[in-house]
Amino acid sequence: MSGGGKAGDRPVVLVSGGSRGIGRAVALRLAQDGYDVSFCFRGDEQAAATLEKELDGLGARALARRVDVTDAQSVRDWVEATERDFGPVAVAVTSAGITRDKPLLMMADSDWHEVLDTNLDGVYHVCRAVVFPMMKRRAGSIVTVASVSGLYGNAGQTNYAASKAGIIAFSRSLAKEVGRRGIRVNAVAPGLIDTDMSAVLDEQVRTQVAERTALGRTGLPAEVAEVAAFLASDRASYVTGAVLPVDGGL
Ligand code: NDP
Repeated sequence: MSGGGKAGDRPVVLVSGGSRGIGRAVALRLAQDGYDVSFCFRGDEQAAATLEKELDGLGARALARRVDVTDAQSVRDWVEATERDFGPVAVAVTSAGITRDKPLLMMADSDWHEVLDTNLDGVYHVCRAVVFPMMKRRAGSIVTVASVSGLYGNAGQTNYAASKAGIIAFSRSLAKEVGRRGIRVNAVAPGLIDTDMSAVLDEQVRTQVAERTALGRTGLPAEVAEVAAFLASDRASYVTGAVLPVDGGL
């Protein structure tokens, strides 16, 4: 943990998969908006430590925790530790995600289950853990990170697209459940964003996807974070159950 101040000074955001890529950009963006940040990662200690320092530099307290989002108990412990050390979670952003891209005929059962367990069960675990305290306070905002694959499908990504379509349906359903308790739930659906996850793609594939967008380019993590920050904030006070593409006009 880093940073000064006492619990309750600043609103708190919880970010799953916060150490790299889109989650990292969200953590930095919300720190700039005045949030303390509790983020989890799965294995990359170095990336987590770097982010902690950057958050500290922005005046935000940072809690970095190694949590596998597939493990419900670890997620519950993380949320409890966050509320104990930092105060109530005002915003949760679920960015932890993986790909195991393969045509269905080549897909191992483990490719299917790892992606569904991480991407979809992971979102369930985080939301399940934060929603009860949010309901008690009658306040909260959740932003899930889905994907255009979950809206349109994508060859080679049956597992990933199914997980992301699941996140979209989950988010819309949860929005309907908790709206009257003062909680909003929205999803962003990014297109191809320049992160470690997309760096494994062939340059040719990246160029083809970029050419299929109206803007003619791939996106930056900060461009997704900006939209997530908007949806998380009171500026989006009448927005819930929405799925906002951040895809350059794919
Ligand atoms: P990155 O690979 O850059 O970062 C993934 C992050 O998730 C890391 O912090 C990683 O931690 C964490 N993570 C992975 N698995 C787990 C786990 N089981 N438990 C906890 N944390 C975990 O990915 P992106 O930033 O690109 O992707 C973020 C989200 O955005 C994902 O949900 C992805 O599906 C979605 N998305 C990405 C797009 C893109 O083009 N990049 C497009 C559309 C959606 P660690 O480093 O420790 O492993």
